[in-house]
Amino acid sequence: MKLNQIKGILCDLDGVLYNDSIVIDGVIATIKSLKSKGYQFLFVTNTSGVTSKELYHKLIALGIPVGENEILSPPLAALNYTIAQGYKEIEVLAGSSIKALFKDNFIINTTTPEAIIISDIGKNWDYQLINNLFLKVLNGSKIIGLHKGKFWKASEGLRIDIGAFIKGIEFATNTEATCIGKPNKSFYESAIEKINLPSHQLLMIGDDIIGDIQGAKAANLTAIQVKTGKYRKELTDKADVKPDFLIENFNHLPSLLY
Ligand SMILES: [Mg+2]
Repeated sequence: MKLNQIKGILCDLDGVLYNDSIVIDGVIATIKSLKSKGYQFLFVTNTSGVTSKELYHKLIALGIPVGENEILSPPLAALNYTIAQGYKEIEVLAGSSIKALFKDNFIINTTTPEAIIISDIGKNWDYQLINNLFLKVLNGSKIIGLHKGKFWKASEGLRIDIGAFIKGIEFATNTEATCIGKPNKSFYESAIEKINLPSHQLLMIGDDIIGDIQGAKAANLTAIQVKTGKYRKELTDKADVKPDFLIENFNHLPSLLY
């Protein structure tokens, strides 16, 4: 069976096209070939350490053929959400470019913020930071996570991700954080709106059984999991939601399409 109704590809980045910053062999040629056949692309990522503009420049530097308007990532969605919630005083745990994105719209308050935005901060997590967050949330601050990833694949191996810390704070404070990126339904709705195709003409391809596959299925998309990146057989085997197709790597995608 070929997926001949598909016209658009929602494509995860990390673990599908590259690991950390090392491009997986063949993927650039595969994207070019799919684009030349008329498939539309939207790169849908939870990458939150940088703005989508910085991400665009990173992808171009890696040689990945991408348009500036073909990227959807959580920082801007989080900014829009935080504005819509009516918060005035916030704290931002993030790199400098994400902080700058928020600084223009809010008063930065690191003692009694109404909301705390948590983005990718790499290896900067420590006990002091987590305990301070715990105390602020007990005091009424809301947490807005750019995503809730459990772990990711860096070049040296798997690394724990911000979702694990957010979940820990939720557990300790009996509160629930808001998370913006995949598998959040509204993030997939934004992706579908941005690529502007009906869901039956779209597929999502990713390495994460929750963020990519469960999220895509909840949005009624064809879901394809690759065995690269953070894919682990045991996690896919025991998941409630299964991918429609499981393929070795991104370069096998054309064989499903035509
Ligand atoms: Mg991924």
